[in-house]
Amino acid sequence: MAVLTDIFGRKLDYLRISLTDKCNLRCLYCMPKEGVKRLSHAEILTLEEIERLAEIMVGLGIQKIRLTGGEPLIRKSILELVGSLREIPDLKELSLTTNGTLLGEYAEKLKEAGLDAVNLSLDSLQPDRFLRLTGEDMFREVRMGIEACQKAKLHLKLNCVPIIGINDEEIEAIAAFAQETGVTVRFIELMPLGCGALFTGLDGKEILRRLENKYGSSKRLDPCGPAGEQDILTGPAELYTFEHYTGTVGLIRPLSHQFCDRCNRLRLTAEGYLKLCLQYEDGLDLRKPLRSGLTDEGIAELIRENVKRKPAAHQFQKAVQRDHIEERKMVQIGG
Ligand code: SAM
Ligand code: SF4
Repeated sequence: MAVLTDIFGRKLDYLRISLTDKCNLRCLYCMPKEGVKRLSHAEILTLEEIERLAEIMVGLGIQKIRLTGGEPLIRKSILELVGSLREIPDLKELSLTTNGTLLGEYAEKLKEAGLDAVNLSLDSLQPDRFLRLTGEDMFREVRMGIEACQKAKLHLKLNCVPIIGINDEEIEAIAAFAQETGVTVRFIELMPLGCGALFTGLDGKEILRRLENKYGSSKRLDPCGPAGEQDILTGPAELYTFEHYTGTVGLIRPLSHQFCDRCNRLRLTAEGYLKLCLQYEDGLDLRKPLRSGLTDEGIAELIRENVKRKPAAHQFQKAVQRDHIEERKMVQIGG
């Protein structure tokens, strides 16, 4: 099996593919109220182009692909895409990050098409707060999406970004909901990227303190812990159990516990730009070579050469004096 590495020797085996820059929600910390400048139809990679790139990149060493967006379930050909990605022989895991609003309709079909797992973003359990936070009265649809996912036996995790004064008082309730539902919730530190910079997220330490207050002392799970949690080896979540809590809670701390030295990811935007790091623009346009008749081997060589330049680390917490800071919003990158 091929291995893709950068100059720091990091193994790059995880690709997040954004299928669209459109979204049916307007989360305060992700999408500006006025929306973002939309890509035209011609600018967005076609299904065939995504499939071709995915195949080339799996050939180079990518083992896990996550589909994201914008809202990936808005992309009409999603089921066809999942089906064809599933057929790439060396692809070990195919997953999706979604706001869950359309999962009621799609969960069963996604499972049949070969999807392995879903991460569902859930920042509030209160319909009125959900509306204020996302701009849409769709909490009911998300609840139905969670049920549909469980019925379809799709592996499910919840993601929550606690923001001070917006939804931070709900973390205990969201952890309780995850416990009742039998799923892991991962609390993510807000990154000061795009609209995220307008708010203050709860830091990991405070999240842990509040959960310990409610559920008793915590225990960090060994990274090689129980089956199903190995994801920590490649993903950045720290997993915890609590004295009075059944199940596990994850913490993703891009700010307070930077994990750049173990970063294994690349991101492909909907217009075909391969991003090397969330914070910087560094990367390469793959749409042009794809459309100019370059061979698969030619494209593979371009990727192999360019990923070597992956930045050593993000510097979200410092006043960065560096060119090429990313100006795209999260909804345009694919979180
Ligand atoms: N629409 C889908 C969803 O909401 O899950 C997929 C795209 S969304 C950009 C992916 C994830 O990024 C979501 O879990 C969202 O909460 C997270 N996100 C967006 N902006 C963020 C920020 N500034 N800091 C941390 N996470 C962020
Ligand atoms: Fe849309 Fe997801 Fe961003 Fe919310 S977090 S605006 S659902 S892309």
